[in-house]
Amino acid sequence: MSGLNPAQAAAVEHTDGPMLVLAGAGSGKTRVITHRIARLVDRGVRPSSILAVSFTNKAAAEMRERMIPLVGHEDAHRLWLSTFHSFGVRFLQEETRALGYEGRFVIFDQGDCVGLLRELMREEGIPTDRSFDMMAIVSRISLWKNAFQMPGNVREIDYEYDNIARAIYPLYLERLESMHAVDFDDLVVRPVQIMREREDLRKKWRARFRHVMIDEFQDTNIAQLALVKQIVDEHQNICVVGDDDQSIYGWRGADVGNILDFEKTFRGAKVVKLEMNYRSRAPILEVANAVIAQSKTKRHEKQLRPARGSGPKVRVVNTPDTTAEIKFVAREIHDLRKGGDASPGGVPRKYKDIAILYRSNTQAKLFEEELRVAGIPYRMFGGTQLFDRKEVKDIIAYLRVVNDPEDELSLRRILNTPARGFGSKALKTVRAYGLRHGLSFYQSLRRLQTLDVPVRTARNGMDLLSALQTARDALETGAPLEEVTQRLLEETGFTSMIFEDQTKVGERRRENIEFLMRTFRRFDSERKISLAQLLARISLREETGEEDDSRDEITLSSLHSSKGLEFNIVFLIGCVEGKLPHQRTVDPKLTDAAPTGVDEERRLFYVGVTRARDLLYLTRASGKKSRGRTAPLFPSRFLEGLPDESVEMYTASAEKEMSPDEVANFADMILAKLRK
Ligand code: ATP
Ligand code: MG
Repeated sequence: MSGLNPAQAAAVEHTDGPMLVLAGAGSGKTRVITHRIARLVDRGVRPSSILAVSFTNKAAAEMRERMIPLVGHEDAHRLWLSTFHSFGVRFLQEETRALGYEGRFVIFDQGDCVGLLRELMREEGIPTDRSFDMMAIVSRISLWKNAFQMPGNVREIDYEYDNIARAIYPLYLERLESMHAVDFDDLVVRPVQIMREREDLRKKWRARFRHVMIDEFQDTNIAQLALVKQIVDEHQNICVVGDDDQSIYGWRGADVGNILDFEKTFRGAKVVKLEMNYRSRAPILEVANAVIAQSKTKRHEKQLRPARGSGPKVRVVNTPDTTAEIKFVAREIHDLRKGGDASPGGVPRKYKDIAILYRSNTQAKLFEEELRVAGIPYRMFGGTQLFDRKEVKDIIAYLRVVNDPEDELSLRRILNTPARGFGSKALKTVRAYGLRHGLSFYQSLRRLQTLDVPVRTARNGMDLLSALQTARDALETGAPLEEVTQRLLEETGFTSMIFEDQTKVGERRRENIEFLMRTFRRFDSERKISLAQLLARISLREETGEEDDSRDEITLSSLHSSKGLEFNIVFLIGCVEGKLPHQRTVDPKLTDAAPTGVDEERRLFYVGVTRARDLLYLTRASGKKSRGRTAPLFPSRFLEGLPDESVEMYTASAEKEMSPDEVANFADMILAKLRK
C-alpha cells in the first residue's frame, strides 16, 4: 500500500467487522476510506455492494474523483458514493410504493418547507412578522423528526417557539402527505421506518450492501445511525471515521455520542488512531492544538504531529473596521498572486489556492461586492447559491410541474408568476371547488372555465396548462430540455417579465438564468439521468450549476461547509466576539432549538484553522461602521492563548494606495463639496 502510514494501512487492511478511525484533522481519515474501498474492490468485492457516505455533495463528488485512479472509471461509477440524503432519494425512488404515495413524490427543500410552514401558521392565525424566526420552527420540527418523535410524544417545553412548533407539527405532517411530499429529514427517517416495518424490503436492502463506510461520523444524528444499523445489521461490516473535535452540527441535532459510544453500539469494534497530520505546516497545527486544548467539553485526547515541518507563522491581523478588513483581504490576495511581500518565498499564488472562510453568510455578501470591484474571481459554497435565487427557483418550479402536474406547491408558485389574475380570491375559488369535488389542485384548475373566476383569468390559466402540456409532450418525444424550457418560458410570458427589468438586478437575474441553462445543456449532452432525477439532484443541491474545478477562482465558504476540505492559504475572517463565537450561541435569549454553547463554536474555529495547508490569516476588525458611527468590536476569545512562537500579530492600517476608481470617487466627492 503506497502513500499510507502503518496505522492507516492497518485500517485499510481490516475489512471484516466494525471499525472506528478516530483521529484529528488532516490525519488522513478520508484517505483511509478511499484506499479501503480500493482494497475491497481489489479483493473482489463487487463495487455496487459498497456504500460510502460523505457529509456533503461536494465531498461525495470528490470521493468519486479520487476513486477513479484507484479502481478505474467503470468501477468508480458502480460504487454507491453519496450523502445520507442522496442515498435516501435513491431508496425512496425505488420504494415509492412503500412510502404510500402511489408511485410519485416530490422533495421539498428548505425554502419550500419554510413557505409551507408560513402558510400553515397564517391559516392558524399565528402572526409571523419580520422579527419572527421561521428557522426556529423549522429546526424544532426537524429535530423531532430525526429523533423519531411523533406529534403525540414531543417533549413539552413552555417557550413561545416550542409551543408554536408543537401546534404546527401535526398539520405540517398532514400537509406534506396530502401533497405527496417529503422533506430532507424524511429522506433518512422514512427509509428507516420502511425497513423497520417491511421485512421484505429490509432483507432486500441488507443483501445489497456488503460494506458500509461513513466519513465525518461525529456529525451524524440519531436517524442516520438508525439507518446504518438497519443496513449492516447482519454482517456488521461498518467502518466509520471522524473526529469529536470537529463536531459542529449539534445545533442541528447531530449527536457526538454516536462516535463516542461506537464501541458500545458495535461490539468488538476495532479502534484505530492516526497521529500524523499531513495537511498543515507546523505553526498552523500548533495554533490548532492550542485552540482545541482550551475546550471545556470532555474530549478524546489526541496528539497530532506535523508531517510537513515548519512554515510561515500564522498571521493574526487587526484592522480598524470591517470595511478595512475586507479591503485588506482583497489587497493581500492581489499581493499573494503577484508573489509580493505577503507571499512566503515570493512565490506567486493562484486564486484557487486561496479560501475565505466565515461564520455566517451575511459576511460573505460584503466580500462578494469587494471581490467584484477588485476583479477577483470567486466561487461560493454553502451560501445563497444559484438554486436559491428566486428566478431560478421559479424556472425549476415550472419544470417540476412539467415533470409532475400534481406538484401542487410548484404549480401554485408559477400560477401567478408572471401575474395572470390569480390573486387570493381566485385561488380560494379553485381550492374550494377541489375540496367540494374531491379533486386535486391541478384537477380543479383544469376545470377553470366552469368556475367562478374572471374570463381572462380562466383563459390565462388554461393557456398556462396547455403550454405545460406541450412541454411535457416535447420532452417525452426526446426534445432537448434547454430548448423545451426556453420555449415554455417564452410562451408563458416568463421571459418577457425577466427582460422588462432593465435594472442591474434584472441583469443579474438574466445571468443566473443563463447559468441554469448551462446545467440543462450539460444534462442534454450527457443524457445519463431522467428529468425527475435531475430535479431531485437540484433539490438536494447536488447540482452546482458549475462542475468545472479547473477554473482559477478563490473559494468563499462558510466554516460549516468547509469541513473536510483543504486550501493552501486560508483567510479566516471576522474573528470577533458576537461573530465567532456567534451571538446566537452566547445570548441567553436563544431561538436555537438545540442550544450548543461556546464549545461548539470553538470546534468550528478549530475546523477553520485546520483547513489551511501553508498559510493562515486570522483577521478581525476593531469596529463596525453603521450610520456614520463606529461601534467597537472585541477580539474573539478564541484568539487568546495562542502560542507566541507560532503567530505574528500586526495591524493593517486603513490608509493604502487608492485604486483609480477610488481616486475618481474621491475627486467627485471633493467637487460636490466645493459646489455646495
Ligand atoms: P479532516 O479531518 O479535515 O477531514 P482527514 O483526516 O480526512 O481530515 P485527509 O483529507 O484524508 O484528512 O488528508 C489530509 C491531507 O493529507 C490530504 O491532502 C491527503 O492526501 C494527505 N495525506 C493523508 N495521508 C497521507 C500519507 N500517508 N502520506 C501523504 N499524504 C497523506
Ligand atoms: Mg476528512
